[in-house]
This record gives sequence, structure tokens and C-alpha cells, in this order.
Amino acid sequence: MFAVSKRPTISEIHNLYLLSDAMPSDVMTFFLNRSLKIDIEINSVLRYTKDLAIKEAKDCDDLIIEYKNRYKAKSTVELDSSNLVRSVPINPSTIWFDKLVEDYPLFGIPYDLKDNILVENEIVTGASQMMRDFVAPYSSTVYTKLKEAGGILISRSNLDEWAVGASTENSAFGFTHNPFDFDKVPGGSSGGPAAIVASGQAVFSIGTDTGGSIRVPAAFCDLVAIKPTYGIVSRYGIMPLSSSLDQAGPLTNTVEDNLLVLKILSGKDSGDQTTKDSKNIAILLGELYNIYNKSKSYRKLLTTTKKLKIGIPSEYFSDGLDPEIKEKIDDIIIKLKVFGHEIIDVNLPLTKYGLAVYYTVMTVEAATNLQRYDGLRYGTQFEHLENILYFAHREKGFGDEPKRRIMLGTFASSSGYYDAYYNTATKIREMMRREFVKVFEICDILLAPTTPEFAFNFGEKIKDPIKMYLSDALVYGANLARIPAINIPLKFIDIDEKTIRSLPTGVQLIGPEFSEEIMYSLSFDIQQLVMTK
Ligand code: GLN
Repeated sequence: MFAVSKRPTISEIHNLYLLSDAMPSDVMTFFLNRSLKIDIEINSVLRYTKDLAIKEAKDCDDLIIEYKNRYKAKSTVELDSSNLVRSVPINPSTIWFDKLVEDYPLFGIPYDLKDNILVENEIVTGASQMMRDFVAPYSSTVYTKLKEAGGILISRSNLDEWAVGASTENSAFGFTHNPFDFDKVPGGSSGGPAAIVASGQAVFSIGTDTGGSIRVPAAFCDLVAIKPTYGIVSRYGIMPLSSSLDQAGPLTNTVEDNLLVLKILSGKDSGDQTTKDSKNIAILLGELYNIYNKSKSYRKLLTTTKKLKIGIPSEYFSDGLDPEIKEKIDDIIIKLKVFGHEIIDVNLPLTKYGLAVYYTVMTVEAATNLQRYDGLRYGTQFEHLENILYFAHREKGFGDEPKRRIMLGTFASSSGYYDAYYNTATKIREMMRREFVKVFEICDILLAPTTPEFAFNFGEKIKDPIKMYLSDALVYGANLARIPAINIPLKFIDIDEKTIRSLPTGVQLIGPEFSEEIMYSLSFDIQQLVMTK
């Protein structure tokens, strides 16, 4: 028997393999059973990938035996100071595992994928009736990389249909509940991934973020989650929503785990021509991870070596900000200052256009991307509709919110309106990008709230789209400017600690293109400050 904490990290599971007899198949079964029990109340899992998980876990079991045999009685060979070869005995009880994790950094880690990421021969629905039986003909690069790194995929999680929404209430397959308060939404559109990780059903999950869909659920569910620089993670095999904004990223319990998973996901991919060569980022992240993992005092080291100029954009602290969230963020700012970081007030006046620009660009691209679901080439054919007409299938297959986006996007890109709406939005988007570039001439990184409020009740905003759109007002900027942004929880709370006001919230860091390394180093500081409170 072995014990797993309520919200395990990658290194906790790795220690289990190293220090106990637990095999990946046992750990996989443990997580499946735990999830079956916990998810009755949360409803974050759309489907378990049990057969695949059994196979992947078995491959990991075999690797343990292989590596233990291979490194059983070996010693390493080194040159001593006189250049004579000498044999250095090594600790055989750990070397096999060090090698295993070097080759497979996510060895034996049970994880989840949002149900808009393709895995060959597995159903993928985008939480839409339109695709309820669709079996993916090929795998996404994201899944391929996680598989190659030794991960074990155990489940597919709920989302707002096609990833449109901020509460997961738009799913065609029911609501997902916030693990910290079942009456509240988990955020969206990656509400399923966030609820799964926050309730310990998987060690991490991968979500997608077109306009905040990774960061908002992370803030509502107490998780670390990054929307990387556009082009760091391949979109190949991910259901497209708004192609110039979409980016996938990990949701994890800690900054270390997040950094490791992003490092694995990053890289140029021939399947997605917008990916960039992010080898440097991967190397920097690898170094950061190694240093951090080797020395727990790294946080201390870091704060004495890397002094950052942190910009505080006034536009992100408007009247609508919950006073309790503001207080927590002010508190972090003061502490970061004490640590030696420089705090600078900055302005991003174009932020006020973010919502309008986002909903123009996003809906135009979404209307185009959703055109393919017609019940003919893609999508469910509803049997009782004798007439297989495009409009009939789209009427039945799409929920209200995707229909709203298709109508808005078709309108904003139709002849006569194209210039007034889409073209204008594209121009303002570029101005917003430049505004960020200018601000990053005077500061290294920006710090702001992720959401203006805590997780809200079911039904509170779903009938009022504008209210729902506004709940994401602070996250659109990073997608429009294609720059990275991360949520770090401001209170790592225990899942059992359900007091009246124990809802999580987060702080957002926004950095220039490819600034992930700096972003993670500051995230370590914040994590440390929050945890040692
Ligand atoms: N809430 C935003 C929307 O509804 C973000 C969606 C997303 O990031 N996928 O469009």
C-alpha cells in the first residue's frame, strides 16, 4: 500500500516509485478509483481513457524493470586529477531512477487532457453534441509529447462547448462544480481540467487559452497555469477556436510542475507553421528546473540575484475589482518590494478596448473555424433529421453560445461591415501589442489580478453574455498581444478547508514574448511568499 496526498505533485509521485514498491499500474488504478469517487460531486470528467491508461501504465511498469536491471550493479567511470581512469561506486538504489526520469521526465504521472485535444482512436467532443461520437483519426503534438515523456493519460475533461465561455456552463454535457464550493462555477472554458487537478484526480492537465480559458479557471480553483507566448506550444491536433489567439498550456499544483510540463510541450513543430523555435526557452526552463529541484534554497538565491522591475498597470485595478482580491494583491506587491524587486506604476490605456477587440477578432475567426462542422464531413448526423441539411445539423448540433459567436463573427466579417469591425479591431490589436512592447521598455514584467472577482454562482451570468464576457476582462490582453501570462494562486488552500470565504483567487504575471523564464522565477518568489505566510 502507498499513500498519495490530496493534491500530489510530480516529484511526490516520482518519490513513490523510488522509495516504495508502487508500480505505475498501481498508481494509475489508484487515481482512477479516486476520481470515480470524487467526481460524482464535481462532474469534471467526460470520459476515462481506461484502455489507453492500462497500456501506457504497463509500458511504464516494463521500464522500471528494464532500468533497474540495466543500472543494477553499475558504477560510473571518471578521470581523477592525474587523468587515471577510476571507478566510482554509485548508489544503485537511485541511479536507475535518475536515468529513467532523465529519459522520461513525466514517467508514470497520471494526467488529464481537456476534451478538445486529439488522441488517435479516442473520442474527442469539444463538449459539443455536434461531435459527441467523433473518434480522432490522429494525435495532437501535445499528446504525443506527453506520451513520449512517460505520462499516463487517464481522463478527458469537461469544457465550455468549443471552448467558448468562462464558466463551463456552456458544455453540452452538464456543469462542472468548483471543488472548493460546489455551488460555484470552476471558471472556463478549461473548468474540467482545473477542477480535476484541484481535487487531486490527476497530477496535471492541459487546457487551451484563447482569451483566458486556462488562467481564469486556475484563479477560481487555486492552480498555477500558464498561457505561453503564441507559438511555443503546437496547435496541431487541437480543435481550433480562434487560430491567432489559441494556445495550450499546463494547469498544475505548483510552479515547478508547471515549468516542467511547459518545457516538455514547447518546441517547433512541422504540424503547426506558427510554432517558433523555442529551444532557448526549453534550455532556460530546464536549467531553472534543475537549479530549483536541487536546491530548495533557490528561492532565496533567486531573490538575492534577480531583481526585477515589476510594472503595475493601473487599468487592471479598476472599480470593479473585488476589495478582498485587491487587498491580497497589494499585500504581495509590498512583500515583493521587501524582497528587493522594484515596483513601477505603468499605464496601458488601450486596455479599455480589449473586450471589443477580442470579441471581434475572436468571433470572426471562430465563425470561420466552426464552419467545418456541418454533419457531412465532420459532426454528428442526427438520424431523425431525414433531410441532411447543413442548417438543420448546425441548428441541433450547436449550443446557444457558439451560435451567438458564429452570428457575431459572420456579421463582423461580412462585406460592408468588414472594414468597420474586423479591420478596425485588427488595427487596434496591433496598437495594443505595441503598447505592451513600450511598457516592457521600462519594466521586466507586469503584475495584475487574473480575475476581478471570485468564482460566481451557477446561473449568475449565463443569461447575460456581456456580464459573462466582462468576467474575463483582465486576461484578453495577453492573447491579443501574443505574449505569455501566468496565474499563481494567492492562497494555496486545503480542499477540506471550506470556510465561508475560502474561495481561491490568483495573481497574474504578464511578460514580453518569450519571457517564460523570468515569469517562472518571479512565480517561484510569489509561491514562496504565499506558502510561508
Ligand atoms: N471566455 C472567453 C470566451 O468565451 C475565453 C475563451 C477561451 O479562452 N477559450 O471567448
